[in-house]
Amino acid sequence: MLTWKHIINYTVNGNPTPDKRVEKTETEWSELLTPEQFRVTRQKGTEAPHSGALCSIYDEGQYNCVCCNTPLFDSTIKFTSGSGWPSFTQPIQENAIQYKKDTAFGMVRVEVMCNTCDAHLGHIFPDGPEPSGLRYCINSASMQLEKGTVNEN
Ligand SMILES: [Zn+2]
Repeated sequence: MLTWKHIINYTVNGNPTPDKRVEKTETEWSELLTPEQFRVTRQKGTEAPHSGALCSIYDEGQYNCVCCNTPLFDSTIKFTSGSGWPSFTQPIQENAIQYKKDTAFGMVRVEVMCNTCDAHLGHIFPDGPEPSGLRYCINSASMQLEKGTVNEN
Protein backbone atom coordinates (compact mmCIF):
# COMPACT_ATOMS: atom_id res chain seq x y z
CA MET A 1 0.00 0.00 0.00
CA LEU A 2 1.26 3.47 -0.86
CA THR A 3 1.66 6.04 1.90
CA TRP A 4 2.78 9.69 1.90
CA LYS A 5 6.40 8.56 2.37
CA HIS A 6 6.24 6.67 -0.95
CA ILE A 7 4.68 9.66 -2.68
CA ILE A 8 7.39 12.07 -1.51
CA ASN A 9 10.00 9.51 -2.53
CA TYR A 10 8.51 9.42 -6.05
CA THR A 11 8.65 13.22 -6.35
CA VAL A 12 12.32 13.24 -5.29
CA ASN A 13 13.73 10.09 -6.89
CA GLY A 14 11.45 9.55 -9.89
CA ASN A 15 8.26 7.71 -10.69
CA PRO A 16 7.59 3.99 -11.22
CA THR A 17 7.81 2.79 -14.83
CA PRO A 18 4.40 2.47 -16.49
CA ASP A 19 3.34 -0.73 -18.32
CA LYS A 20 3.17 1.25 -21.57
CA ARG A 21 3.31 4.82 -22.89
CA VAL A 22 0.78 6.74 -25.01
CA GLU A 23 2.08 9.94 -26.61
CA LYS A 24 0.18 12.31 -28.91
CA THR A 25 0.53 15.93 -30.02
CA GLU A 26 -1.60 18.69 -28.51
CA THR A 27 -3.57 18.82 -31.77
CA GLU A 28 -4.28 15.09 -31.69
CA TRP A 29 -5.45 15.31 -28.07
CA SER A 30 -7.67 18.30 -28.83
CA GLU A 31 -9.41 16.27 -31.55
CA LEU A 32 -10.06 13.34 -29.18
CA LEU A 33 -11.26 15.26 -26.12
CA THR A 34 -14.05 17.69 -25.28
CA PRO A 35 -12.85 21.28 -24.64
CA GLU A 36 -13.28 20.78 -20.85
CA GLN A 37 -11.41 17.46 -20.87
CA PHE A 38 -8.62 19.04 -22.94
CA ARG A 39 -8.37 22.07 -20.62
CA VAL A 40 -8.12 19.93 -17.49
CA THR A 41 -5.92 17.06 -18.70
CA ARG A 42 -3.59 18.71 -21.19
CA GLN A 43 -3.48 22.28 -19.81
CA LYS A 44 -3.57 21.39 -16.09
CA GLY A 45 -6.94 23.01 -15.49
CA THR A 46 -9.18 22.44 -12.49
CA GLU A 47 -12.93 21.96 -12.73
CA ALA A 48 -15.14 23.90 -10.32
CA PRO A 49 -15.80 21.95 -7.08
CA HIS A 50 -19.04 19.92 -6.99
CA SER A 51 -19.39 20.39 -10.76
CA GLY A 52 -17.92 17.11 -11.96
CA ALA A 53 -20.12 14.31 -13.24
CA LEU A 54 -18.33 11.66 -11.17
CA CYS A 55 -18.26 13.56 -7.89
CA SER A 56 -21.32 12.00 -6.29
CA ILE A 57 -21.43 8.74 -8.21
CA TYR A 58 -20.60 5.60 -6.28
CA ASP A 59 -21.55 2.93 -8.82
CA GLU A 60 -19.32 -0.09 -8.84
CA GLY A 61 -16.69 0.14 -11.53
CA GLN A 62 -13.30 1.26 -12.66
CA TYR A 63 -12.14 4.83 -13.32
CA ASN A 64 -10.03 5.05 -16.46
CA CYS A 65 -7.94 7.92 -17.84
CA VAL A 66 -10.14 9.90 -20.20
CA CYS A 67 -7.20 10.35 -22.60
CA CYS A 68 -5.67 6.87 -22.90
CA ASN A 69 -8.20 4.63 -21.08
CA THR A 70 -5.63 3.26 -18.62
CA PRO A 71 -7.30 2.08 -15.37
CA LEU A 72 -6.43 4.54 -12.55
CA PHE A 73 -8.81 3.96 -9.65
CA ASP A 74 -11.83 1.85 -8.76
CA SER A 75 -14.99 2.19 -6.72
CA THR A 76 -13.62 0.18 -3.77
CA ILE A 77 -11.09 2.93 -3.00
CA LYS A 78 -13.38 5.91 -3.63
CA PHE A 79 -14.56 7.82 -0.59
CA THR A 80 -16.58 10.91 0.26
CA SER A 81 -14.15 13.69 1.11
CA GLY A 82 -16.56 16.61 0.96
CA SER A 83 -14.01 18.48 -1.16
CA GLY A 84 -16.21 18.60 -4.25
CA TRP A 85 -13.94 16.39 -6.33
CA PRO A 86 -13.88 12.62 -6.66
CA SER A 87 -11.51 11.27 -3.99
CA PHE A 88 -9.60 8.02 -3.71
CA THR A 89 -7.19 6.52 -1.19
CA GLN A 90 -5.02 4.39 -3.53
CA PRO A 91 -4.35 3.95 -7.24
CA ILE A 92 -5.56 0.74 -8.86
CA GLN A 93 -1.91 -0.18 -9.52
CA GLU A 94 1.19 1.50 -8.09
CA ASN A 95 2.64 2.41 -11.48
CA ALA A 96 -0.61 3.84 -12.90
CA ILE A 97 0.06 7.33 -11.54
CA GLN A 98 3.02 9.71 -11.63
CA TYR A 99 3.73 12.36 -9.01
CA LYS A 100 5.30 15.77 -9.42
CA LYS A 101 6.04 18.63 -7.05
CA ASP A 102 3.82 21.58 -8.01
CA THR A 103 4.68 25.07 -6.79
CA ALA A 104 2.02 26.96 -8.77
CA PHE A 105 -0.08 29.60 -6.97
CA GLY A 106 2.53 30.00 -4.20
CA MET A 107 1.72 26.62 -2.68
CA VAL A 108 3.75 23.44 -2.53
CA ARG A 109 1.53 20.59 -3.59
CA VAL A 110 1.97 17.23 -5.29
CA GLU A 111 0.39 16.97 -8.72
CA VAL A 112 -0.85 13.58 -9.90
CA MET A 113 -0.77 12.63 -13.58
CA CYS A 114 -1.56 9.55 -15.65
CA ASN A 115 1.73 7.67 -15.87
CA THR A 116 0.84 6.37 -19.34
CA CYS A 117 0.00 9.63 -21.15
CA ASP A 118 0.90 12.45 -18.69
CA ALA A 119 -2.71 13.65 -18.41
CA HIS A 120 -3.16 16.02 -15.46
CA LEU A 121 -5.53 14.34 -13.00
CA GLY A 122 -5.44 16.47 -9.86
CA HIS A 123 -3.45 16.58 -6.61
CA ILE A 124 -2.71 14.29 -3.69
CA PHE A 125 -2.81 15.23 -0.01
CA PRO A 126 -1.71 13.44 3.19
CA ASP A 127 -5.07 13.94 4.94
CA GLY A 128 -7.00 10.93 3.66
CA PRO A 129 -8.55 8.11 5.67
CA GLU A 130 -6.55 5.32 7.31
CA PRO A 131 -4.79 3.03 6.62
CA SER A 132 -2.99 4.79 3.73
CA GLY A 133 -3.75 8.35 4.88
CA LEU A 134 -3.80 9.43 1.24
CA ARG A 135 -6.38 11.56 -0.54
CA TYR A 136 -6.19 11.61 -4.31
CA CYS A 137 -8.26 14.63 -5.31
CA ILE A 138 -9.13 14.05 -8.97
CA ASN A 139 -11.04 16.02 -11.60
CA SER A 140 -14.10 14.21 -13.01
CA ALA A 141 -13.13 15.53 -16.42
CA SER A 142 -9.92 13.47 -16.30
CA MET A 143 -11.68 10.13 -15.94
CA GLN A 144 -14.35 7.93 -17.40
CA LEU A 145 -16.22 5.38 -15.30
CA GLU A 146 -16.39 1.88 -16.70
CA LYS A 147 -19.24 0.33 -14.74
CA GLY A 148 -18.91 -3.28 -13.69
CA THR A 149 -17.94 -5.56 -10.86
CA VAL A 150 -14.64 -4.84 -9.15
CA ASN A 151 -12.62 -7.62 -7.55
CA GLU A 152 -11.69 -6.72 -3.99
CA ASN A 153 -8.33 -8.00 -2.94
ZN1 LIG B 1 -3.72 8.57 -19.58
